[in-house]
Amino acid sequence: MSRRISRVATVSVHTSPLDQPGTGDAGGMNVYIVEVAKRLAARGVEVDIFTRSTCRAMPPVVELAPGVLVRNVVAGPFEELDKTELPRHLCGFTSGVLRAEAAHEPGHYDLLHTHYWLSGQAGWAAKKRWGVPLVHSMHTMAKVKNAALADGDRPEPAERVLGEEQVVASSDQLVANTGEEARQLVDLYGADPARVATVSPGVDLSTFRPEFPLRGLLPHRTGPARRRLGLPRDAYVLLFVGRIQPLKAPDVLLRAVARMLADDPSLRRKLVVAVVGGPSGSGRCRPEGLQNLAAELGITDVMRFEPPSPQAELTDWYRAADVTVVPSHSESFGLVAVESQACGTPVVASRVGGLRTAVADGESGVLISGHDPVDYAAVLGRLHAEPGLYARLARGAVRHAHRFGWDATVDALLDVYSGAVYTGAVLPVESPAVAEVTA
Ligand code: UDP
Repeated sequence: MSRRISRVATVSVHTSPLDQPGTGDAGGMNVYIVEVAKRLAARGVEVDIFTRSTCRAMPPVVELAPGVLVRNVVAGPFEELDKTELPRHLCGFTSGVLRAEAAHEPGHYDLLHTHYWLSGQAGWAAKKRWGVPLVHSMHTMAKVKNAALADGDRPEPAERVLGEEQVVASSDQLVANTGEEARQLVDLYGADPARVATVSPGVDLSTFRPEFPLRGLLPHRTGPARRRLGLPRDAYVLLFVGRIQPLKAPDVLLRAVARMLADDPSLRRKLVVAVVGGPSGSGRCRPEGLQNLAAELGITDVMRFEPPSPQAELTDWYRAADVTVVPSHSESFGLVAVESQACGTPVVASRVGGLRTAVADGESGVLISGHDPVDYAAVLGRLHAEPGLYARLARGAVRHAHRFGWDATVDALLDVYSGAVYTGAVLPVESPAVAEVTA
């Protein structure tokens, strides 16, 4: 069952594909949208990405790559808004999306692919007007997040839960990152299993690759990445990459480091802990907060705080690191984990969500149940003390990362798109759940 798809309307209301990932609301979803759009366009599928304009000077249409346009829709003030403020601008945003399509012949887009529930709400209205299928990716789910809140984290509001339920019920196809997410869509949101497809995100294997082909055999980082970053050749470098937010739990890494130094003070001479990324959209866990924690723990001298970096520069960090640590409380997939492994750097991560797919426990890294810094300290200490184990994981890391590539993601998405267009043509979707909610 394959049907030619020529044009896709992708919707990302709350964050633009032009934003730098690793700060604010920009992260893995932005990377996903950009990588998929570029590859779809390379296969002859034009992609228009609709996002909310946050700056008056921004042109209404920007070419991101050949065949990929970013359409900046004016809705609400020209400034970054907290996600909780966006629902009130959805009506204006949706009418902007509808206006953009109205400038073309009817049937301009073959389908909508919306990302995150706010975009799904806009897509829900657009799908009805255009008579095209709606494919939706949740990226994160309020019910899952609320079940794994970090201390002091604000629960996701009921408004989001209801909005997600509406989007699930009105989508022709849902795309889950992992089998677990697919099950959660069915069990927690009542999705029809026949309308849920599991499609792994990918990694750009041409950007993220080891510095040396045999990197896994090298006990220490001896290449130019360390030189460029000013890191000593014999340092033991631990890396955290991502937005600074309680859910990602960078504090667990800092506490683990304090524990390692208490157990073995001689490590202080060679330990470097790098944190690359900026504050998350909520801004409630700013790098200054982590810097204060480092001071409290007495580990400021081993810390390096780095601003968010473009992916080409991130490779230096992944290559220079001995281990990347991803202690998140909840993670829908964890692109950082796969990027690190693609560079030959094993990952120590929490055994949650998509990280259980992104990291092969004992093969490409180590998964830890819970968030006890003592457990993290023990594993990180062991990887430092056992070069044989470390080299095995480093080799396994590259192998495991090669199971994920954006081309495979796009192959699978095109199947989902074709299926949605075909099914949409013979079986219009409007489940009773939506009828009830909207009644
Ligand atoms: N990222 C980046 N620069 C940074 C920090 C992060 O480009 O300084 C990118 C990183 O390469 C990854 C994404 O942001 O592709 C984060 O994705 P992940 O799935 O790990 O986390 P999310 O942001 O989706 O929670």
